Amino acid sequence: MKIPRKITIGSRTFKIKKMARISNESEWGSMDWDAGIIKYADGKSKTRSGEKGKNKDIVIMHELTHAILETMGREDMSQDEGLVEAQAWLYLQVFKQLRG
Ligand SMILES: [Zn+2]
Repeated sequence: MKIPRKITIGSRTFKIKKMARISNESEWGSMDWDAGIIKYADGKSKTRSGEKGKNKDIVIMHELTHAILETMGREDMSQDEGLVEAQAWLYLQVFKQLRG
């Protein structure tokens, strides 16, 4: 998946930045709604314990799902990591088929 430098969701434009390395073992990406910044680490990144990073496509889709839900005013849904992760995987599957 080609990752753009910026992406617009609703009336808000987010900058997308690749993280040089992972600072927190449980964090492959982050979304700061107030700052308008989405960060991601790609699959080449490793945690301190050597675990390889997640595929960047799902990391980006996960963070975009947070941004979409918060743009919708549904912070309650955005806080449900299980819902966000499931939605991200399913949208990614569908979008890959739409691209042909
Ligand atoms: Zn999350």
